[in-house]
Amino acid sequence: MITQQIKNAIRDIPDFPKPGIVFKDITPILKDPVLCDNIVNAFVEQLKGTRIDVIAGIESRGFLFGLTLATKLGVPFVPIRKAGKLPFTIKQKAYKLEYGTAIIECHTDAFEPGQHILIHDDLLATGGTVTAASELINEMGGVVAGFSFVVELGFLNGRERIAPISDTLVVLAK
Ligand code: AMP
Repeated sequence: MITQQIKNAIRDIPDFPKPGIVFKDITPILKDPVLCDNIVNAFVEQLKGTRIDVIAGIESRGFLFGLTLATKLGVPFVPIRKAGKLPFTIKQKAYKLEYGTAIIECHTDAFEPGQHILIHDDLLATGGTVTAASELINEMGGVVAGFSFVVELGFLNGRERIAPISDTLVVLAK
């Protein structure tokens, strides 16, 4: 079962990057090509019936399965990046973190107004990052088609936070 395979592969790193955080290290998943293929196929299966014109991946681990999934679905992939990384003209969105603020950016020609964009990341925690990505996409005229994550940290209630944005949420492991 894919959920158990993912859980078995993920490595918990206590106190990284700071005390009190248990970091979910997905790099062991990437060393298993069969599991990677199973993950992409599970996303494809669970997203059947959802209109997806473009996949937007969140820097940086959202790029890993985001691009593979987009390629498999035959749709474009666009990166949503941290400030100062994208070379072309950009639109940006600032959002609050626990301490301070962060900025995400997207190229202005990443997609066309009216297109349905699936937002993909490796992990759903508080949902703050993908909420900011949704706002950025909406401000650029895109429609949020839904969200996909390899893993969710349920105790942070990100699921409730993003529910008003879209009904479509695919999480492979909790
Ligand atoms: P959030 O905006 O709180 O939903 O945080 C999600 C982003 O932070 C994702 O890009 C994750 O990769 C990263 N992240 C947050 N918490 C963790 C964690 N415990 N382990 C690994 N990545 C995390």
